[in-house]
Amino acid sequence: MTYKNYSTEQLRAIDNAHHLHPFTDHKDLRQAGTRVIARADGPFVYDTEGNEILDGMAGLWCVNAGYGREELVEAATAQMRELPYYNAFFRCTTPTPTLLAQKLAEIAPDHINQVFYGSSGSEANDTALRLVRHYWALEGKPEKNIIISRDWAYHGSTVAATSLGGMAAMREQLYGAVPNIRHVMCPYAFELANPGESDHDFGLRAAKAVEDAILEAGPENVAAFIGEPIQGAGGVKIPPESYWPEIQRICDKHDVLLMLDEVITGYGRTGEWFAAQSMNIKPDTITTAKGLTSGYQPLSALLVGDRIASTLVEKGGEFYHGYTYSGHPVACAVALKNLEIIEREGLIGRVRDETGPYLHEALQAGLGDHPMVGEIRTFGLLAAIEVVKDRDTRERFQPEGSAPVVIRDHAIANGLMMRAVMDTMIMSPPLIWTKETIDMAVDRIRKAFDTAE
Ligand code: PLP
Repeated sequence: MTYKNYSTEQLRAIDNAHHLHPFTDHKDLRQAGTRVIARADGPFVYDTEGNEILDGMAGLWCVNAGYGREELVEAATAQMRELPYYNAFFRCTTPTPTLLAQKLAEIAPDHINQVFYGSSGSEANDTALRLVRHYWALEGKPEKNIIISRDWAYHGSTVAATSLGGMAAMREQLYGAVPNIRHVMCPYAFELANPGESDHDFGLRAAKAVEDAILEAGPENVAAFIGEPIQGAGGVKIPPESYWPEIQRICDKHDVLLMLDEVITGYGRTGEWFAAQSMNIKPDTITTAKGLTSGYQPLSALLVGDRIASTLVEKGGEFYHGYTYSGHPVACAVALKNLEIIEREGLIGRVRDETGPYLHEALQAGLGDHPMVGEIRTFGLLAAIEVVKDRDTRERFQPEGSAPVVIRDHAIANGLMMRAVMDTMIMSPPLIWTKETIDMAVDRIRKAFDTAE
């Protein structure tokens, strides 16, 4: 069977008849019609109508090494031939998850040396939630089980991950959240800083909201704080530099575990292997997925710090948790090869020293003066452009206005995939982008803004 025997119209009709899509208004989709992306190479994806689109989102923030990597295909094929599946339950393992765990321990911050696998970021966060609560139970403090999270957090889509998340629309459809999870403000200076308040002071104020929540609950009842170093799906909200050191201080002071969700920021996007290293954070757990395999296979790895791991080992007792595909040998073989490629091609250093800074300069030069641009933020190869009706008053378009969606649609029509989150345009390109690719993207964004104006 090959899709090439079908016309685009046929594929759309079949899709409408049988396929329920994630995060989709299905009534709207049936009217708008599905875009069928059929192949990809390097930084481009191609749809069945022959359009070449520069992928400014690296798929869904995941194709860090870019498309068309034969080595990853070969790694998967060889592993499937040798051993397509075996599990890591019942005192077994297979070689690739073992060797990948060793590699992850090598690239993670020094105090992190253990790995728990799943197939998605959501699963990894389910694991993280259970693990931190289990840790405190093992330590004889089962009442220490409240988790502090933030508005606009995205931690995935399972019930536990949605409960951790802070997206209002998703939470409305939870129909019963996991208990003992509380949310506080996020460090989004563009909208939440007071007039005249410095970035530094705002960062401290946003961190204080976390401490206030810990004190209100009683530190003896709080297990952990969870946060994305940079909120991604919430709109690439980059915190002020004062924020994370203060969060670290607060967590240390109240003996609250620090859980980082690096599903987006991990594996080179911020110019280090992990944002924990870019931002000098010392977390107890790091949730990772996406860029671990560059999206070529579904795989997540919860990186677990020595404090939690040593309690698990010393206290013993089964941790009743795991997935059929925890440590899937094929996914882990692809991850090993993917990390080798990222390392061999020096992609992370390039993000830190070359393409990351250049993305910022190019966006500023191309869009900084545009009447609809309120702010441009970047960190490594993550970018956000705030869309405003008026640069001085910062009046926004959402919820009624559709300007950001119009800009996004123009961008795609101009050959650039990017996303709109409320009034924020966001980008998260593959780490293989060069200065030339960035110039091409900025040119297309500028045209999209000009057309939407
Ligand atoms: N955590 C963060 C920060 C994410 O951005 C995502 C997905 O975008 C997830 C968790 C969930 O990952 P998955 O979709 O693989 O379940």
